[in-house]
Amino acid sequence: MNIIETHAHIYDEGFNEDMEQMLARAFDAGVEQIWMPNCNHETIDSMMALAKAYPEKCLPMIGLHPCYVKEDFEKEIQIIEDYLAKDKFIAIGEIGLDLYWDKTFFAQQQEAFLQQCALAKKHNLWIDIHSRNAFWETVALIEKNADPNLKGIFHCFTGTLEEAQKAVELGFLLGIGGVATFKNGGLDQVIPHISLDKLVLETDAPYLAPVPYRGKRNEPSYLPLVAQKIADWHQCDVSVVLEKTTQNAKALLG
Ligand SMILES: [Zn+2]
Repeated sequence: MNIIETHAHIYDEGFNEDMEQMLARAFDAGVEQIWMPNCNHETIDSMMALAKAYPEKCLPMIGLHPCYVKEDFEKEIQIIEDYLAKDKFIAIGEIGLDLYWDKTFFAQQQEAFLQQCALAKKHNLWIDIHSRNAFWETVALIEKNADPNLKGIFHCFTGTLEEAQKAVELGFLLGIGGVATFKNGGLDQVIPHISLDKLVLETDAPYLAPVPYRGKRNEPSYLPLVAQKIADWHQCDVSVVLEKTTQNAKALLG
């Protein structure tokens, strides 16, 4: 079974000790590709090293994560532009707004998001959105940007049904991960009502491990647990979920 892991920070130093075994477990579990979101200039080297070591399997994005947006964000965006000119990336990500950790740089977060949406347009790429406690603020920027060709994923979607429907209406997919397996995750009110055509799988590894690994380090080989939960809600076989989500992800790559 071919699974596409659409969001994993496998370059994280938490994987340094058993990187090869962790990747072997993922490939054994049926994971065909692992898409890697970038955070800031400090994560690019380790991410690109993996992309070069596993060129068909570990595919990099480039972008500035909202939690890393500071006064000097324009320097970071310049670095992204330099990389876009010389290397191949599947998407601009992860980018967006985060009002959960720190609101100090909210104005800069908004500006950085809009500038990176413009980069996506220029390079004909989709965007991988990180939006935490900021769904409607993110939607407002997407609507202000008004680019009907802009597509992507609301990564680690954990919002309400209304929010899910809005994301879908804007042409975006929902990235579903370990939170789907949490008793208090809230996605039981959402996923049964959203078509499988709108979902993709992700772990956000090393974070947000699904039950029964909740609280431990997460890794791509756990994706079938998330897929099974979605299959339960949609009352279908897990193979259907894997097939659909892989199709949806591949369509983004064009
Ligand atoms: Zn992430």
